Amino acid sequence: MRKHYLAVIKFPMYVSLSLIILLAIFFGMALGNYHRLGLSPMETIVFTLLFIVLTVLISSWILILMSTHQKIKPKGLRLYCTWMLFNVYFYLAKWLSKVFLQQKTTIMESFLNFNNEIVLSNFQDMHSKNILLLLPHCLQKSECKIRITNDIIECKECGACDVAKVKGIMNKYNVHAAVASGGSLARKLILDSKPDVIVAVACHRDLTEGVRDSWRYPVYAVLNERPNGPCFETTVSTSTIEFAIKKFV
Ligand code: SF4
Repeated sequence: MRKHYLAVIKFPMYVSLSLIILLAIFFGMALGNYHRLGLSPMETIVFTLLFIVLTVLISSWILILMSTHQKIKPKGLRLYCTWMLFNVYFYLAKWLSKVFLQQKTTIMESFLNFNNEIVLSNFQDMHSKNILLLLPHCLQKSECKIRITNDIIECKECGACDVAKVKGIMNKYNVHAAVASGGSLARKLILDSKPDVIVAVACHRDLTEGVRDSWRYPVYAVLNERPNGPCFETTVSTSTIEFAIKKFV
C-alpha cells in the first residue's frame, strides 16, 4: 500500500515542485528588476503576461489534483485538464526527474498511476458496456501455434501464457479484448470500437505513449511484467485487470 502510494505521489510532487521553482524564478526576476531600475513599460507587459501564464498553470494544476478525488463534470473542462496533464505537466515532471537523476521508468510509472486515479475518479457511479481491453502481442507464448491478432477469442486456453486468463476475464465481464502489435493498430482498434473506457496493458514506454496519444479517451494503464526481458513472453497481473474492469462495468 505504501509502495503504491509513493508510486502515485512522485509525479504530482515533481509537477508541484517545478511550479514552485518557476514561481520563485519569476518573482526573483520581477522583484530584482523592479528594485534595480524599476520596470520599463515593455518589462511590465512581459511580466504581466508571465504572471497570467503562471496563474493559469497553477490553477489548472490545482484542478487536476482535485480531479483525483472529485469528478470534473463539464466535458470541455475535463478534456482541457487532460490535455494540460499530458502536454504540459508531464514535461515539467520529466524535466525535474532528469534534474534529480531519476530513472525514466520511475516517473512514467508514477504518471500512469496518477492518471489511473483520475480515470477512476471520473468513472465514479458510472457503468459502461463498451470497455476495450488492449493487450500487447508479447503476452502470448512465443511457441504458440495460434495466431492471435486483434481478437483473443482464438486462444485455446492451454494456460501456457496469461492470454488464457485474460480471455477468462473477457468472457466473465463480456468486454472486448484485442491484441495491438503497435501504436497504429491500437489507434485503429480504438477508432473502430470508440470505447467509453480503455484498459491497456503494455510496458512503461508504450503505455505512456499510448495514454498520451489517445488523450480523448479515458485509459486505465496496467503495466506488464517482463521476467524474460523486454517484448518477450511478458506476464500481467490479471487481478489488476479485473480490479479495473469491475470499477467500470
Ligand atoms: S494460452 Fe492461448 S495464447 Fe497462450 S499459448 Fe495457450 S493457446 Fe496460445
